[in-house]
Amino acid sequence: MTGTNNEKESARQRDYMDRVRVLTEGRGLKYMVVTFGCQMNEKDSEKIAGSLQKMGYEKASSEEEADVLVYNTCTVRENADKRLYGRLGVCKSYKEKKKEMIIAVCGCMMQEEHVVERIRGSYAYVDIIFGTHNIFRFAELLFNRLDSGSQIIDIWKETDEIVEDLPSARKYSFKSGINIMYGCDNFCSYCIVPYVRGRERSRDPVEIIREIERAAADGVVEVMLLGQNVNSYGKGLDTRVSFAMLLKEAASVPGIRRVRFMTSHPKDLSDELIDVIAENEIIARHIHLPLQSGSDRILKEMNRHYSKESYIGLADRIRKEIPDVSITTDIIAGFPGETERDVEDTLDVIERVRFDGAFTFEYSRRSGTPAADMEQLDKVFVQKSFDRVLKTVQRVSREQASRFKGRTMEVLVEGEDEKDPARYTGRISQNLVVHFPKETAKVGDMLQVTLDECMGFYYNGKIIGHG
Ligand code: SF4
Repeated sequence: MTGTNNEKESARQRDYMDRVRVLTEGRGLKYMVVTFGCQMNEKDSEKIAGSLQKMGYEKASSEEEADVLVYNTCTVRENADKRLYGRLGVCKSYKEKKKEMIIAVCGCMMQEEHVVERIRGSYAYVDIIFGTHNIFRFAELLFNRLDSGSQIIDIWKETDEIVEDLPSARKYSFKSGINIMYGCDNFCSYCIVPYVRGRERSRDPVEIIREIERAAADGVVEVMLLGQNVNSYGKGLDTRVSFAMLLKEAASVPGIRRVRFMTSHPKDLSDELIDVIAENEIIARHIHLPLQSGSDRILKEMNRHYSKESYIGLADRIRKEIPDVSITTDIIAGFPGETERDVEDTLDVIERVRFDGAFTFEYSRRSGTPAADMEQLDKVFVQKSFDRVLKTVQRVSREQASRFKGRTMEVLVEGEDEKDPARYTGRISQNLVVHFPKETAKVGDMLQVTLDECMGFYYNGKIIGHG
């Protein structure tokens, strides 16, 4: 889609927002957006919430209270389906009490035909069903539903459109996710994302920086650049721009104190990127680098395009060039065909890379992916492998966390400590959590905090200075 078409589409959607606003004016209507899944979904939900606010809806305090209730779904793991169907079941009673309530479902699950069929068949009271590619059309879909009174289903198989400049309601005042690209071209054999999020599309760098500048002007101090594989950012754009170049520019936006990014694929993390991070303290000393498996044989089956040794080599380079960096990862236990020997290889990588944290998952079979057709492993064996990986990674991460004990670090205040209202919770650049007495600080402040007591995966500390 060209820049002009993009502008036309965003103007069209704003027009629909005005039309819905006319219908809702003065009625005190409320909305709720419930998000399942990753940060990309969180960001999409912010856009839906932003449109709803523009259309005159206020945030509800519960799902039941909402006049428009949106479920933004995830399909990465099997049990996500069950959670959604459970929620939709409960919606029936909401609709019985309040007939005019609008229930909308969107997100990755809706890109799977069998899901849409099931909702049409068993949950016919759902009003709007849309997918990942046409989220920007939400205002139009809602208007059509209100206007026609009939169920609206609009799922696009794919798109090359990126529509900018629509409203967004930020969940946090001090930090914000910024999409830099959509989709993924990697086709890891276990992953459903390329099928539901479509081909890789990078956003225009000028638009991205403009969005960061606007966020900074609103008081945002930390941004997280989001993409399924940020290292391949820039492919297909007219401007020659790499992820490293974009990151550097993002870090130079006045008012931005910290820049994070998610997620890096190990196969194309460049030396240029390592240098940019090393040279720029505003860029977080934290790289999330999904390993998935330490076995060359399994990595090949997963279609990951790197080897055990090349991964370790990359992690060594990162640690050497960026002192104090933390490296976290994702690991899948129980991929089809995995043997004890393969698990040993994964454990070996954990010990050698010394991960600062890891999300460990049992392999989840997603129909439509190549791995779903491979011979699946016995559940007991999978559980055993998972436990071994988890135990090792937890021990190593705990040891890694203790390396900061006694240091004074820069901490961004994120909110009240859930267990103690007299304390705040914040995060250091390495992504470790610290709790400390509030004193005169406020949420969004950048503070100097001493890390006094290591509690395993987090610290207790105290403020020793501001800024
Ligand atoms: S890089 Fe692989 S695991 Fe990540 S989203 Fe793309 S296909 Fe899925």
